[in-house]
Amino acid sequence: MIITLYSLDFGRISVIAKGALRPKNSLFGQAELFSCAEYTISRKERRNIDTTIDISVLDYNNSIRIDPLAYAFSCLYIEWMLNVITGSEPSQSTYHLLKNVLSLFGEGSSFWPVLCSGIEKLLRLSGHAIEVSICTKCGRESGNSCHWNPLSGGIVCSDCASGEIKVPAGFLLFIKNSRQSSLREIQNINLWKGGFRQTFDLLREFTEIHYDMRMKLKSLSIVEDLDNA
Ligand SMILES: [Zn+2]
Repeated sequence: MIITLYSLDFGRISVIAKGALRPKNSLFGQAELFSCAEYTISRKERRNIDTTIDISVLDYNNSIRIDPLAYAFSCLYIEWMLNVITGSEPSQSTYHLLKNVLSLFGEGSSFWPVLCSGIEKLLRLSGHAIEVSICTKCGRESGNSCHWNPLSGGIVCSDCASGEIKVPAGFLLFIKNSRQSSLREIQNINLWKGGFRQTFDLLREFTEIHYDMRMKLKSLSIVEDLDNA
């Protein structure tokens, strides 16, 4: 089995777990999706994949696995992460962000605000912070402007606006809140009907422009099916 890990020491890495699908193997049942574990790996020079020697599970995150909605949202967040984080630079902040997002999903918290804020925080940690206060064209305070330019990095003041789209003021406020609040605080925020979905789509457009790629996000349709059920 080939497993993708987000690790505290090495960031994103791929490891091979030989025999992990065989019931009598010591690795069997240890490498579950969403589980948090200590991996002992063997690293060889000039090989881009490490070999797993031992797995000691710290937390299976079972509460995610037994709740279909928590499962779907967790998959969606991880899909997003896999698109954005491709290298293996270690980042303790990213590691803890992922852990916090999964732990809140496991608690069955409000999924949409945690997802959207988790994405905003991930973009910021990856060096693509969304600007919502300072005009991304002239550098002055943007005031009450809702002009939006994902290509230039976010908000555009009324003086600089030329053909920019306008975004809901509630979206800008949510991003401001997300920058200042913990995930636990942000889960209590409510937006207008359809607001989180609109926020999600704006975050997606921003990400795709800045990473120059299209995200497939296979879990999104599952989230949509379950969420409207
Ligand atoms: Zn300006």
